[in-house]
Amino acid sequence: MSDLFPARADIDLDAIASNLGVVRDAVEGQKLLGVVKADAYGHGRAQCARALLGAGANYLGVAQVAEALNLREEVGAGPRILAWIYAPGADLEAALAADIELSVGAFWALDQLAVAARSTGITARIHLKADTGMARGGFNLQDLPEAARRIRGLVAEGVFELQGLWSHLARADDVDCGLTEIQIERFEEARSTVKAAGLDPVLCHLAASGGALWHPEARYDMVRPGIALYGLSPNPNHRTAAQMGLKAAMTLSADLIVDREVPAGTGVSYGHTAHTEEDTRLGVVPLGYADGIDRKASNVAPLVINSQPTKIMGRVCMDQFVVTLPEGATAGDRAYLFGDVGAGLPTADDWAEAMGTIGYEVVTRLGARVPRRYHGEG
Ligand SMILES: *Cc1c(COP(=O)(O)O)cnc(C)c1O
Repeated sequence: MSDLFPARADIDLDAIASNLGVVRDAVEGQKLLGVVKADAYGHGRAQCARALLGAGANYLGVAQVAEALNLREEVGAGPRILAWIYAPGADLEAALAADIELSVGAFWALDQLAVAARSTGITARIHLKADTGMARGGFNLQDLPEAARRIRGLVAEGVFELQGLWSHLARADDVDCGLTEIQIERFEEARSTVKAAGLDPVLCHLAASGGALWHPEARYDMVRPGIALYGLSPNPNHRTAAQMGLKAAMTLSADLIVDREVPAGTGVSYGHTAHTEEDTRLGVVPLGYADGIDRKASNVAPLVINSQPTKIMGRVCMDQFVVTLPEGATAGDRAYLFGDVGAGLPTADDWAEAMGTIGYEVVTRLGARVPRRYHGEG
């Protein structure tokens, strides 16, 4: 089947293993939680999770409990899995039965998880979440003493085990903005509160990729890298992936399906947002916004064909877009959209910059229709 789909994402599992090593070398012995939410940022959850475990990840993390249940089937019993998003009424008994550790950052979650733990007889291993400046998930610091008091009771009863105390940084990529230091102070306050309630979390964790790489004081007992594992930078304007020794794990390419010659003044693609300035050879790349190639890439995103740079011309369509062809390129030649800079390719971070977004979005949005091919052992 995939031979009939003229585009593919090659996923380098050795790069993912090597990127975990880069993070490990950058930190000081902290445990590593590899984040594989959103199908491992578009790279394929099962394969990436196995590669990360093989490379020594201590934990895997996903956002949704549904993702965690699938991940448990993919990696089998044993590896520790943390999930942090579920809504009131979620089937938390299924999560407990699958040995999923859950974040608790609201009173309703605390109550519902206690009910699920009691009814299954399975002790819930929880990570108590405090909000330290993201204003997203987690208890407000004012509510934390009451949450800790209730958890203390549940721990005493054997209903809960306090595996973690955690929070998330809002501006770790903006290295000198000062917010991370403030969030660390608030996290310290959260730690004191929890301790004062007689609790002793096994792991404190605060840092994702940006915090792990750029804020040593935020590392605590475990770091939670995501984007760095896939070989992209949390902020390429601060440091590029290549500067940190990270290697892009995904290479996106497609076979050209058209080569044609058009005269000067030819309007190209929907809306004629671009016109040729001279006689021009155009090619068609069979990937479009249905595959996650954002329309914002129209007229701006870079490609490489036969080792020569070019870019998208005109609007990205649902299934295809037009490019200006380098000398000699013909249908059947391979057009590379992004990959590793070391291979002479534009990066997902280059695409992000051209489109005014972040590399996270470029790889994560890659459509399910595009076949992934796996290389390496991880
Ligand atoms: C997505 C996420 C991460 C990973 O973030 P990166 O910036 O990709 O390293 C870590 N922790 C939480 C809570 C997340 O939601």
